[in-house]
Amino acid sequence: MRVAAMLKFSELVGSDITSETQAEETLRELFSKRPHIVAALGIALVALDALWNGSIWSSAIALLISVLCLIYRVIIEQRFLSRPAGPIETKWVHLFVSGATISGISWGLALSLLIYDQSASTQIIAFAVACAIVQGAAGRAYMMAGTAFINIGCVLGSISIAGIANGSYLFALGAALYFAFLVSFILQMVRNRLAQLQAEHRTEQLIQEITEKNELLRFANEKLAATAFEDPLTGLANRRKFDRTLTEALAMSQQEQSFISVLMIDVDNFKSFNDTYGHQAGDHCLKVLSKAISAAIPDKDCLLARYGGEEFVVLLPGYDPEASLLIAERARAAVELSALSAMASSPRSQTISIGLVTSLGGPMLTRETLLSASDAALYEAKRQGRNRVCVYSDLAQSTLQPEPTL
Ligand code: GH3
Ligand code: MG
Ligand code: MG
Repeated sequence: MRVAAMLKFSELVGSDITSETQAEETLRELFSKRPHIVAALGIALVALDALWNGSIWSSAIALLISVLCLIYRVIIEQRFLSRPAGPIETKWVHLFVSGATISGISWGLALSLLIYDQSASTQIIAFAVACAIVQGAAGRAYMMAGTAFINIGCVLGSISIAGIANGSYLFALGAALYFAFLVSFILQMVRNRLAQLQAEHRTEQLIQEITEKNELLRFANEKLAATAFEDPLTGLANRRKFDRTLTEALAMSQQEQSFISVLMIDVDNFKSFNDTYGHQAGDHCLKVLSKAISAAIPDKDCLLARYGGEEFVVLLPGYDPEASLLIAERARAAVELSALSAMASSPRSQTISIGLVTSLGGPMLTRETLLSASDAALYEAKRQGRNRVCVYSDLAQSTLQPEPTL
């Protein structure tokens, strides 16, 4: 059924599944003048033989027909090749169908002239050339089988008529047998072509599916990577992200001998907040505070992370002690001023305590030193009454020198 549908005159075999590129390549091959040059040469050979045997008019007309046909094919190929870029329009398929029909009629006519009333040797050569031309057309019939049948039918039909008119019925019999053979040959080629196109089509679909799936996978991986470094409650970086960034920033500060600061932040009396207002209100409070702290931290190179529970940590690479203290104080004040009024029956605001350490990068400076120093400064801030910033000012001598709140 499907094969029968593909035998339509003006349809490329498998046109419903071929890509634009495949259709373009197929038509380019169909329009090619090469087989027509070979056919014209074959007919010229028979015409020469007929001329040799004294048939001047027949040979001259046969030659003229085949030359005109060749010129026509060269012109239409040129027109096809110089068409404007873009998808193949149906008019080109139609042009090819009429071209193939004209070729079939011309070849048939020329060869009939070279069979009718000619010597036996010329007739045999003409029949052989007709078979060669027809075989050439059949060999390309897998691209547009319906049109190939018209073309072949014209040639074999014409020489049969010429043979019968000449009283030689063997031509018609031979042509009929040959046509029957070509029908099964072409149908098999069409089946093979369809199977090939379907396999290519399926492969293309699979490649497209794989590309799409890969894109989804890449997207999911990116999302996963992002969430692996994100705190789900506040949306801030998590401790894992902080640890990585601290290692990198420390290496950089050691290399460049630049300042590096760590702010250890802890929400004051948060246990009693939870006990009084509930855990949900506590969660909301952490979100509000994280936004307030975040707004107080410079964007450039700094990192605010949730360190765990109600503790946050800030990494400030390249900020000297004064600038770091200013940022810490700004964060503390931002939290104090941030309103928690969105929650029913919640307190007006919350406070935080901050332990700050700033150091110049050096070979002895480790992440543990920085973290324990900032932790010690935070402890001191709590000890002094909370809602303040304390600075661990002398790392080299491991001396804790808390400073009063600014
Ligand atoms: P201090 O000022 O000394 O830090 O007192 P504190 O009450 O804040 O300290 P403590 O360590 O006793 O309590 C911390 C509380 O923080 C206990 C815990 O219930 C609460 N907490 C930790 N993580 C979360 C959280 O994700 N959500 C909520 N709602 N509470 C949390
Ligand atoms: Mg704590
Ligand atoms: Mg606390």
